[in-house]
Amino acid sequence: MQFYSTNKQSPSVSFKEATIKGQAPDKGLYFPEYIPQLDAGFIKNIEQYSNEEIAYRVIAPYVGEEMTEETLRRIVGETVSFPIPLVPVTEAISSLELFHGPTLAFKDIGARFMSRCLREAIGGGIGQATSSGQTNTAITVLVATSGDTGGAVANGFYGVEGVEVVILYPSGKVSPVQEKQLTTLGGNIRALEVEGTFDDCQAMVKQAFMDQELTAKRFLTSANSINVARWLPQQFYYFFAYKQWKEKEQPPVFSVPSGNFGNICAGILAMQSGLPVNHFIAACNVNDIVSDYLLTAELKPKPAVPTLSNAMDVGNPSNFVRILEIFGNRFPDLKSRLSAYTITDAETEATIKRIREETGYLADPHGAVGCLALERYLQTHQGQKGIFLETAHPVKFPESVERITGQPIPLPEAVRAIMHREKTSTLIGPDYEALKSYLLD
Ligand SMILES: *Cc1c(COP(=O)(O)O)cnc(C)c1O
Repeated sequence: MQFYSTNKQSPSVSFKEATIKGQAPDKGLYFPEYIPQLDAGFIKNIEQYSNEEIAYRVIAPYVGEEMTEETLRRIVGETVSFPIPLVPVTEAISSLELFHGPTLAFKDIGARFMSRCLREAIGGGIGQATSSGQTNTAITVLVATSGDTGGAVANGFYGVEGVEVVILYPSGKVSPVQEKQLTTLGGNIRALEVEGTFDDCQAMVKQAFMDQELTAKRFLTSANSINVARWLPQQFYYFFAYKQWKEKEQPPVFSVPSGNFGNICAGILAMQSGLPVNHFIAACNVNDIVSDYLLTAELKPKPAVPTLSNAMDVGNPSNFVRILEIFGNRFPDLKSRLSAYTITDAETEATIKRIREETGYLADPHGAVGCLALERYLQTHQGQKGIFLETAHPVKFPESVERITGQPIPLPEAVRAIMHREKTSTLIGPDYEALKSYLLD
């Protein structure tokens, strides 16, 4: 499979090269040259297949020629090695719990898959893999995080040979669990604690990628959802959800808490490959330029506004171009498969509280946005049923969730151990030169 750039100004590349590069040189996103079609018998009998087998069949058409079956099966097995249960919340609504991975976030899936693919891709050294004349054999993954991405990336890449990870996070602005996840691994993971905001961190990282003096000395790549190796494996759990869906003759509506739109875009890709889906809902907080787009057919980026569901505070969703690509830029087709809802912080709070009281289910702020958006859709589509993606464990957002429910959230096993570990980070000011000298040191 070859991947072309959505800007169509850069040459097509293989899966491995797309994994190393992240973004295309013309600043477009890599997109598969065709969408594979899964066998109808496989979908019909999906309950008979293990999660490993499902994931392998979904991803193999994208990667197949470039890795041995054995390697790809091993990577897939390591990626989906934790439960992803579909939990009933009400008669019509279920929660797909994506938070049972090592950092309690759905990003664990993409990060684990990508890290292992990157290790395979640089197996022969970067110079050979990219033919760009690079001579160093190590690659540095540079990421800015507002909380969730950093932990998943740190964990996914921990101990991966030939890869060093540098994570920038805003000092004092991530939750205690998130900070421990970023700063206690050691090894090939370095945490830079920036005395500034997330926007400062992101601006510093962007500048590093554009600094030719730096990139000549250090091979940098990013680990965000632009990367095909992080984006594509997110299809897996839509199939796992359908496997657990009881009423196969009436496919589910999927409501996806969305920020950069990588997750929902993977779901739409899964549908185009043959997964039965009734409809998609982009569940957004007040950063809702996609809702506006569906009304006006015009995408107008806005500055991001901080909310309770902060992993979705994105004013210019980078993966939206891929959704347009899937539908061949045909607005009516897109609109018939996708709706969007805007949920305020007050509504998010009220939903967490109401769902907890009425059903006993505890949603995190992101899942709550997904749940309320789904309820709104079902109100006008009687008889349908749906799934919201619960993208993070509520314990990652303790200030808001504990305040809203008035109850402490017990720490899950996966994080209890790290809360006692010592934090190791390097404090730097919010200026690019500080980052540059750190990276060149
Ligand atoms: C990253 C994240 C999202 C948004 O996912 P996108 O793929 O960027 O749309 C939603 N919820 C949580 C908890 C996240 O960490």
